[in-house]
Amino acid sequence: MSESKTPRICVVGSANIDLIFRTPRMPALGETIAGTALHQCMGGKGANQAVVAARLGGEVTFIASVGSDAFGAESISAYEAEGIDASYISRASDQPTGTAAIFVDDEAENCIIVVAGANALLSPESIRAAANVIEQSDAVLCQLETPVDAAVEAFRIARAANTTTILTPAPAKSVTDELLSLCDVCVPNKTEITLISGIAIESEDDAIRAAEVLRAKGVKQVALTLGSEGVLVLDDFGQTKIPAMKVAAVDTTGAGDAFTGGLAMSLAGSPGLADAARRAAIVAAISVTKIGTQTSFPTLEEVEAWTT
Ligand code: ATP
Repeated sequence: MSESKTPRICVVGSANIDLIFRTPRMPALGETIAGTALHQCMGGKGANQAVVAARLGGEVTFIASVGSDAFGAESISAYEAEGIDASYISRASDQPTGTAAIFVDDEAENCIIVVAGANALLSPESIRAAANVIEQSDAVLCQLETPVDAAVEAFRIARAANTTTILTPAPAKSVTDELLSLCDVCVPNKTEITLISGIAIESEDDAIRAAEVLRAKGVKQVALTLGSEGVLVLDDFGQTKIPAMKVAAVDTTGAGDAFTGGLAMSLAGSPGLADAARRAAIVAAISVTKIGTQTSFPTLEEVEAWTT
């Protein structure tokens, strides 16, 4: 673990380009219609979490895979501009950078197609090449938009080095017991914990039972995010409910990534998960007051301004 006061955070995960097409209505099959605007944004859960931690002052390394295309070059420049170490982002020659085509109509309904592209090529070998970074980090963060065997390798290296392992089991899909057994902190939302535990969350008791299923699979601590209802932390001290900050929410996209990036940063200097989750909930609350995903993530100065 790092002796440095600046938290060292290593994020393993997806880097996407989001292309947002605004349209008056969705086209019918076979139809071509004129859109009204096009926005290009950086996305992917891994990239989001890396950006959050960097904005909060972390020394962040992002391990990812992008294409040898223009989007790949743009992604790397954008992450370097955030102060992120992008030297472990590999460039695939035979796959494009992960891209999401997001169609949003005037009723704010959306349709999305995501091509994982180079994200699917993130391999255990590329993780091993960065073993030194993982070993020297305070925390390593993984999600499920890149191959699970890469995440398992990252967590194995981290566990042997006493680096905290944090898993966001999103998007909701089944996850191997091996990955869960290497997980210090799991940060699911309701849908994701239901999928893993088989328990639908309708009450706090359900949440506690579901978290116990995860803990029985080897997860040490759980921070279950509940949207505007806040977070339920379950650790060796029992359960703690942390209410969400009361804010005027305008766009909750990326709130989960804001929370997890903030949690990793706070855990590096905090004695416990509940305290770290309280601070992370502030980071996430600020993010929901702004439109967009990475554009909504706050800097350390903004968080300080909200807390003083
Ligand atoms: P997403 O997939 O959109 O990133 P998620 O489902 O992973 O989100 P949520 O549980 O919706 O994650 O939100 C994560 C955290 O963000 C919550 O635990 C809470 O602290 C904060 N949050 C979310 N929505 C609000 C809100 N309306 N007001 C205040 N805080 C919020």
